[in-house]
Amino acid sequence: MNHLKVIIIGAGIGGLTAGLTLRRAGYAIEIYEKTNEIRPAGAGISLWSNGVKVLNSLGLGDEVAKIGGLMDVMEYRSHRNELFNRISLHPVIQTVGQRPYPVSRTALQSLLLKAFNSDTETVKLNAQCIGIEQDEHRVTAYFADGYQTSGDVLIAADGIHSQLRDYVVGHPVELRYANYVNWNGLIEIQEDLGDKNTWVIYVGEGKRASMMPIGNNRFYYFFGCPMVKGTWVEPEYRQQELKQIFVGWPFPVQRLIERLNPYESNRLEIHDLDPLETLVKGRVALLGDAAHATTPTLGQGGCQAMEDAEILSRFLLTTNLGVEYALKRYEAERKERTSTLVLKARKRADMIYGKDPELTQKWYEQLKQETERDVTDALCKTILGGPFH
Ligand code: FAD
Repeated sequence: MNHLKVIIIGAGIGGLTAGLTLRRAGYAIEIYEKTNEIRPAGAGISLWSNGVKVLNSLGLGDEVAKIGGLMDVMEYRSHRNELFNRISLHPVIQTVGQRPYPVSRTALQSLLLKAFNSDTETVKLNAQCIGIEQDEHRVTAYFADGYQTSGDVLIAADGIHSQLRDYVVGHPVELRYANYVNWNGLIEIQEDLGDKNTWVIYVGEGKRASMMPIGNNRFYYFFGCPMVKGTWVEPEYRQQELKQIFVGWPFPVQRLIERLNPYESNRLEIHDLDPLETLVKGRVALLGDAAHATTPTLGQGGCQAMEDAEILSRFLLTTNLGVEYALKRYEAERKERTSTLVLKARKRADMIYGKDPELTQKWYEQLKQETERDVTDALCKTILGGPFH
């Protein structure tokens, strides 16, 4: 279809990538963002090869390579520093045809924003969408300040706490607490923290601590520990909190806790969404976390938002049967892929964080037996299940 006007709500990874894929398809795009400054939540993100391929197809391959970390090896260790396995990621790169790039979120967000903003089209800030109406010809978005705009398609890319999701699904949808807390941030790479090309993951006692190299000589670090809902710790007490949780863990973990800047750390209760029965309503489509928020245990949430953007633009561009038809095809294509990954990530979170301690113990044993081939096959299966094989 030619000459569509597309309204996108939300300028996160999903909204901005959709803006780029849909503009590449030749459409007029308006992106509305409720905050007055685009501030990414969280410090780092691992863009697996499927996400990177979407950026490559947008001509952003060189840019993402510049901000990405060189992650050559993946290493699992126990909380007593026993090496469970150490695996080269090169067989994965060879099989899927693209390196993964762990990046800082700020760098990724500004790369996408810079690519989207042009002399004629820029993201409109301070624009909180509060409602949508549609008929068989148009869809209209209403904003908190009284502004309204109409178009042919509306993409609700308004994140995990989406206000527009209930409209699409037709009833209120609750998030599900995943029963653990995640702390994350960035720290300069130092030799006594870990190898600069290695993603190290320490696991034990139903908890984990990890460091992953991103661009500009930094590690993206994260910790996870099961916890009841509703806890909060101010930044100044976070090192103390982490020291208690990870007492007796290997020296690199202790040093990381000592040296991290708590005022630049994040502490989040992790939630996900049960797979939704529908992702579209007429001319409106959910995209990214609004459609399929996931626990981050496969590192695929942002990558799936990018895949959504790719598929949506393909289906709109390659049919003349109308917008609603194209969105239904988008839904059919994305529902199974994203539901499978959300449930897989949930199962993995339960295993990592000791929901059933016996299963978690078995997983530690299994990590010791896993071959490079086992790990490579699992990663490739996830990556290759998307639009770019
Ligand atoms: P968001 O990034 O949340 O963007 C939504 C935007 O919409 C926001 O800017 C918001 O302000 C705006 N908005 C909201 N409501 C309105 C409104 N009413 N009107 C206008 N604007 C609105 N993914 C990976 O691929 N790899 C990883 O390694 C990874 N690690 C993660 C680690 C953690 C701890 C967490 C929590 C997530 C991780 N993810 C990862 C998932 C990834 O962060 C998300 O999937 C991704 O950010 C979703 O992008 P989005 O654009 O859908 O939503």
